[in-house]
Amino acid sequence: MIQEALLEWFDGHHRVLPWRTDRTPYGTWISEAMLQQTRVVTVLDYYPRFLQAFPDPFALSQANEDTVLKLWEGLGYYSRARNLQRGAHYICEHFDGKLPSDPKLLQTIPGIGPYMAGAIASQAFNIPVPAVDGNCIRIYSRLHALPLVPTERSAYNEVYARVLQDIPSDNPGDFNEALMDLGATICTPKSPRCEICPLAASCSAMLLGKQTDFPLPKPKRIIPIEEHTILKVFVGNRVLVNKRPNKGLLAGLFEYVDLPGQLSSEEVVSWVHEHLPVQCAQDNHYDIRVLGHAHHIFTHLRWNILGYELHFSEDHFRDVELNSSLGMLVSEEECAQLAFPTALSAYHAASTTSFTHRPKSKNQS
Ligand code: SF4
Repeated sequence: MIQEALLEWFDGHHRVLPWRTDRTPYGTWISEAMLQQTRVVTVLDYYPRFLQAFPDPFALSQANEDTVLKLWEGLGYYSRARNLQRGAHYICEHFDGKLPSDPKLLQTIPGIGPYMAGAIASQAFNIPVPAVDGNCIRIYSRLHALPLVPTERSAYNEVYARVLQDIPSDNPGDFNEALMDLGATICTPKSPRCEICPLAASCSAMLLGKQTDFPLPKPKRIIPIEEHTILKVFVGNRVLVNKRPNKGLLAGLFEYVDLPGQLSSEEVVSWVHEHLPVQCAQDNHYDIRVLGHAHHIFTHLRWNILGYELHFSEDHFRDVELNSSLGMLVSEEECAQLAFPTALSAYHAASTTSFTHRPKSKNQS
């Protein structure tokens, strides 16, 4: 059995993390949601800020969605933040504002799946239920030399059954967390440090000298590519922003003008003359500048982005004629309060130096 060796190692080597020092069901839920697809070091900054702003499910359920998304800005995968808020509504409505301890009931809460239910039940309520994630599948695949494909349901089921046999009834939370820490620090995907691993004596893959042959590689997916042109349109000290629809990719986040395809500067100029209420067609009363290329990979999609920045003087822009489907003009202070997707971070960061009014100048591309 690996219990003893794993728990003894965890006692002496566990990572000190804020959500572990004062463990609560709510804090465990928030930290697990943040840690999905995000590195621990990143979450360290976000977790205390989020807990301070929303200390319990009631506070989170009553918060303005824009405020929640702003505190999530930079963590990516914003559906997690929206699910947390939906989950908070559900907890307030069905469980009187307290997370239940039963893993099955936990999974009725929006955004909580089997892994998170296992993590919350075992760590916050001491219930011996597995929390099987990619780390766990990798470790068990190596321990037992199992040729598992991590993305397949059968791999999850196989490992779940084995962890259920191993998990101690008196300390299930530490056992699950020890597996997480071992996977993050020692039994890593490419370079497992078997020489210091507490489970080395029980590890079949190590005995075979084939640690990195397990688990089997995930099948390669072809990710579709979308081309985008982003326009940061400044009018004096204000910038044009638009809120994305409440459903779909990056729902509810703010963006700059987003046009399909990668447009040349001439095409951008044509678009400006057709869609923006400006009086500068002949006079060159604005700057246009290429901000450069960027890309962002979502789980299922890649964006190739080309960015431009345009500056108009207040005198030559007729606000009242701005088509509301293009968005609204906001000040630097207002813009700083809005949540923008990480996909636009290359262009968003530049805005702090760009809120400078530029008087009449000539075109450049
Ligand atoms: S001995 Fe090596 S491969 Fe086996 S569990 Fe430990 S780190 Fe992973």
